[in-house]
Amino acid sequence: MKILVINAGSSSLKYQLIEMETEAVIAKGLCERIGLGGKIIHKTDKGSAQYDADFPTHQQAFEELVKALSTGGPAVISSMSEIAAVGHRVVQGSDRFSASALIDEDMLNTLESLNDLAPLHNPANIMAIRACMNVFSKDVPQVAVFDTAFHQTIPEKAYIYPIPYELYEKHRIRRYGFHGSSHRYVSTRVAELIGKPLFQLKVIACHLGNGSSIAAVDRGKSIDTTMGLTPLEGIAMGTRCGSIDPSIVTFLMEKESLDIKGVNDLMNKQSGYLGISGLTNDLRDLHEAAAKGNKRAELALEILKYQLLKYIGSFAAAMGGVDVVVFTGGIGENSHKIRLGACAGLEFMGIELDEEVNKDVFSREVEISKPGSRVKVWVVPTNEELVIARDTKEIAGL
Ligand code: AMP
Repeated sequence: MKILVINAGSSSLKYQLIEMETEAVIAKGLCERIGLGGKIIHKTDKGSAQYDADFPTHQQAFEELVKALSTGGPAVISSMSEIAAVGHRVVQGSDRFSASALIDEDMLNTLESLNDLAPLHNPANIMAIRACMNVFSKDVPQVAVFDTAFHQTIPEKAYIYPIPYELYEKHRIRRYGFHGSSHRYVSTRVAELIGKPLFQLKVIACHLGNGSSIAAVDRGKSIDTTMGLTPLEGIAMGTRCGSIDPSIVTFLMEKESLDIKGVNDLMNKQSGYLGISGLTNDLRDLHEAAAKGNKRAELALEILKYQLLKYIGSFAAAMGGVDVVVFTGGIGENSHKIRLGACAGLEFMGIELDEEVNKDVFSREVEISKPGSRVKVWVVPTNEELVIARDTKEIAGL
């Protein structure tokens, strides 16, 4: 049985077709430049294809995607009836959805009412779901898997912001947290790898990529995370500032004559490693520049490592200890220098990294702590698509 997993943006659709018996990815790709022309990149075991297409809308992109899977090069199914269900990544489910759920018109209306909470993501997710429902037969179940759902177990003391409580009641301003599917996947997977039940482990999951967040996963439940109402809070990211003194916002608006859009842009698109270094939001380039003696690139790296160390310490305190630290995401899976910096000096907590092993780990499942380390440290490549496919299978009753 095959499940199609969709991760939609305002002008792109990422997809994976997964054979659920083996959980193997049989095709994956990207429809990009939706509304601006169109290009499709389609990869299968039998080969890959990349070509320009014409999709003015998401619906046409879905039609093209189905064509690529079934008739185009290289085809992996004989007809779209082989696709048993579709799973969609939805960024913001707020406190309305604490688990993945079957999509119907009521859900779409509820999601639309949440657009203010995730204006950059949810409208695109909803548009793509509607387009997909138009392309597939009504008998094909469509399931929403929310980035926020895993964090719905966070207690009130960690999700309420210290602003007037009425504003939480009126606008639902609270910590939601994101990257839930990734934190859920790596914490579950690392427990399997260690050979201990997840409900006996205190895990700190560090998802470090273009967007980064850390989660405290106490016996399988998220009890705190660094991202908040939006994915802007927490550690410094590629172009996002992460947590800063809130007064900086009004100070900048006044001193730099910025309006709401201007200050939002500054915090989301011009800050983080890009803002500090003045060079790049890409960690590889940052490492390269620092190696050539660029002081601000070096500073950006120092800030990232220091913030990671601080959050690891504070989440260990929040859980009353830690058994496992797991790194994932483009940076977490690949940058041994950042992993080392994040753990350096944490021997007092029982975290002892094996520097030799750590140096050689790129995107594979490996323990990188010393054999005797009380706290285990692992690299586990994330697989959000698999989480979405598994939830879809379960919820669709397949
Ligand atoms: P993601 O959003 O998970 O795709 O992660 C993107 C980030 O991972 C970018 O900052 C990349 O520079 C970083 N990254 C990817 N590969 C490597 C690598 N081999 N070494 C260091 N950073 C990497």
